[in-house]
Amino acid sequence: MTTIALIAHDNKKQEMIEWAKANKTTLSQYELCGTGTTAKLVSESTGLTVKRYLSGPLGGDQQIGAKIAEGEIEAVIFFWDPLQAQPHDPDVKALLRIAVVYDIPIATNKATADYVITSPLLKR
Ligand code: PGA
Repeated sequence: MTTIALIAHDNKKQEMIEWAKANKTTLSQYELCGTGTTAKLVSESTGLTVKRYLSGPLGGDQQIGAKIAEGEIEAVIFFWDPLQAQPHDPDVKALLRIAVVYDIPIATNKATADYVITSPLLKR
């Protein structure tokens, strides 16, 4: 089953929750995982099962990057915050980089996330 990773920085978490609720039916057809807090919030607000990795600043982004490298994640929805410096900025860059290396779709805003989640190229 195709796995989608969900990550949202703090100022983007509400947007992620709203997006996940709006796309709940579609998301329910995939395996989901995410960084600690994002996974918890999406799970609580939608009732969907979301495998929890560590919180982003504590290594969650790196865990998801490793899963991409292992071929276990097929798409990433990553609402990063362009207006606030992040303590784990190197991890954020590494995640974006590894997604490009493995040619994994990585949506970094809601408009792109909408394209990805409705794409016929995204296998179930
Ligand atoms: P979080 O991590 O979901 O645990 O807050 C997200 C991030 O900052 O990368």
